[in-house]
Amino acid sequence: MFAGHYAAALAAKAAEPRAPLWAYVAGCQLLDIGWSGLIIAGVEKVRIDPSLPGSALVLYDMPWTHSLPGALAWSVAAALVSAWALKLPRRAAIAVGLVVFSHWAADLLVHRPDLEIWPGGPRAGLGLWNAPVIEQAVEIGLLAVTGAAWTAQRVRAGRSAWPAAAFLTFLVGLQIVAMLAPPSGSAAQMGAMALFAYLAATGVAWLADRPAASAAAGLRDAPARA
Ligand SMILES: [Zn+2]
Repeated sequence: MFAGHYAAALAAKAAEPRAPLWAYVAGCQLLDIGWSGLIIAGVEKVRIDPSLPGSALVLYDMPWTHSLPGALAWSVAAALVSAWALKLPRRAAIAVGLVVFSHWAADLLVHRPDLEIWPGGPRAGLGLWNAPVIEQAVEIGLLAVTGAAWTAQRVRAGRSAWPAAAFLTFLVGLQIVAMLAPPSGSAAQMGAMALFAYLAATGVAWLADRPAASAAAGLRDAPARA
C-alpha cells in the first residue's frame, strides 16, 4: 500500500482542518519514514522476492516501526510532538496521532503476516497483496472518496479546489511509478528511494495547503470556520 495510506490523511484534514495537511501527510507514512531510515541504517531488514504478488517486499524484521506496540508508541509520540511543536489544539493533535496509527491498520489489511503483535511475538497480516487488482482498487477507491471529502471541505472554507486535484494527481502518479518500477537494488537504496517519495509527498502537501495570495491579504478562512 502506498497511495491508500494518504486516504487517512485526507479524511483527517476534511474532519479536523486545524492541523496542517503536511503533518497529516507525513503522519500517515510516519511508520514507513522511520522504516526507511532504519532500513538505510541496517537496523530493520527487508529482502526482495520478485515472485510475490502485489508487493515484492519480504518484510521479515521491522519490530521498531511495524510491531503493534511500536506503531502505538510512534502514534502517541506524534500526537504529543504535534501538540507541542505545532501548537495544535488537543483534538487536532489527537487526529495526527490517529492518522499515524492508521498506517498500521492499513498495513494489517494488505501485508502478508509480517506485523508483530509484540516484538518477537505472533505476526499478523490479512494479505490483500495476494489479490493485487482488488488491493489497488481499494487504495484508489479510498483515495477518491477521501479526496472528494477534503476538496469539499476546502471549497466550503472558500478555498480553491485545484491544489487538491493537483495533490491527488501527484499521489496517483507516484502509485503508477511504484507499480511500473518494482523494488530493486540494495535494501539501503530502496530505503532511500522510499524516503525520498515520502518527503516529496509531504512537500507537495505543504504546497497544496499553503494559504493562497488572497489569504495573505486578510481573506484567509478563520480557523473557526475552516
Ligand atoms: Zn508500512
